[in-house]
Amino acid sequence: MGHVDHGKTSLLDSLRNSDIVSGEFGGITQHIGAFVVPVSKTLSVTFIDTPGHLAFAEMRARGAQVTDIVVLVVAADDGVMPQTLECIEHANRAKVPIIVAINKIDKADANIKRTEQMLAEYGVQLESIGGDVIGVPISALKSINIDKLLEAILTVAELQDLKGDPGGPVEGTILESRNDTTGEQDDVNENIDNKGNVATVLVQRGSLKKGTILVAGKSVVRVRALYNEKGNQVEKASLSIPVVVSGWKTLPCAGDEAFEVESENFANRLVAVKKNEELAKKMEQDSVAVSQKHDEHLKKYREDLERRRATGTIFRKRARGSGQQIEDKEKKLRYTILLKSDVYGTLEALMNIINKYRDMRCPLDIVNTGVGPINDEDLEEASLFGATIYAFNTEVSHVMEMNAQKMKIPLKKFNVIYHMLNDIKDELTKRIPVVD
Ligand code: GDP
Repeated sequence: MGHVDHGKTSLLDSLRNSDIVSGEFGGITQHIGAFVVPVSKTLSVTFIDTPGHLAFAEMRARGAQVTDIVVLVVAADDGVMPQTLECIEHANRAKVPIIVAINKIDKADANIKRTEQMLAEYGVQLESIGGDVIGVPISALKSINIDKLLEAILTVAELQDLKGDPGGPVEGTILESRNDTTGEQDDVNENIDNKGNVATVLVQRGSLKKGTILVAGKSVVRVRALYNEKGNQVEKASLSIPVVVSGWKTLPCAGDEAFEVESENFANRLVAVKKNEELAKKMEQDSVAVSQKHDEHLKKYREDLERRRATGTIFRKRARGSGQQIEDKEKKLRYTILLKSDVYGTLEALMNIINKYRDMRCPLDIVNTGVGPINDEDLEEASLFGATIYAFNTEVSHVMEMNAQKMKIPLKKFNVIYHMLNDIKDELTKRIPVVD
């Protein structure tokens, strides 16, 4: 992280191309949101490759912790700038340790001492002036001291005693996602073709393999293939390794936490529950709006009736019993239902939303609720109260359907919560009295 133009992109480029183990140029990497730099035979550092702190801040806001260490890039010619301070704040808030890369030391007007002093003024005490934050003077452009920066990262990682669980169910965070329809032609990597929905997953627990089922946000994947930042297929991705995963049915969002589940069936059910929760929330907001409208109209209607009664524009005969009259009329304005569902869970979910209408004094009456197929008792009860029967996801036999028809009982069948609630809403809206 760091202020604009202080050299984040240059540093990432320099790191990408520095393979201090083999000493070879790292080769062309693709933008997948993160890349790995091997430092020794057994150690490597993963860089989250998002210059600027927006993505970092967004992930923090979602409660996702993807970085263990922040490398703060400060240009030695500029010193501490406004965004430098923001980055320090972000890192502090996330309780992530900072390493300062004092960049552009190759420049004639670079002033390391001044930069260190400025940092100290803002609470970042570098080791060189007696503090405990490691600072490494570097040149991203000229690739000076990049190895020292990597060493500093390993030192802090060791001090922090950063550990993860390489076993157990996979957990991770989505760094990026996109629909890969480019159908890239690549002579070296013959495996790159149209991958469809892909997402970069940073593995934070366990080992991600082909066939693993992940849920991230409202998206599900049975991992079809894994690719590293060079576009090569890999067999698995272990702790702290970023990997592009193909096979997503829908695209997850950056910052979504991903976790392994046992079956696709279970994954889909989890997503359905999540979607239903969101739907319920939306319906709740809708119902508040509808009931407020009802209240308004009902009030107007009452006022209008009173006014007409007072001014005699209503028939005298009717006007005499006007109290009763208004009550009767209002009764007709109410909507009465009997609700049956397949299982208690669903019934409860439905009632939670429907009760909101009632809380808001919508003219909605529920004569009874229950679980199971529609039966004779339901018909009798509905007939008695002039109720409409709502059968949600539950069986309605042919006989019951015929009987309801004979008894002139409206019987409605639904399988989608949203449709059923919309129907109730429509019925209530129909009953909003028109004031003429
Ligand atoms: P970012 O906005 O933080 O990603 O900064 P860039 O990496 O795009 O760098 C901004 C400018 O500073 C570019 O013109 C780079 O060439 C230049 N620059 C970056 N690092 C160095 C460095 O170490 N030395 C010098 N002289 N210039 C640098």
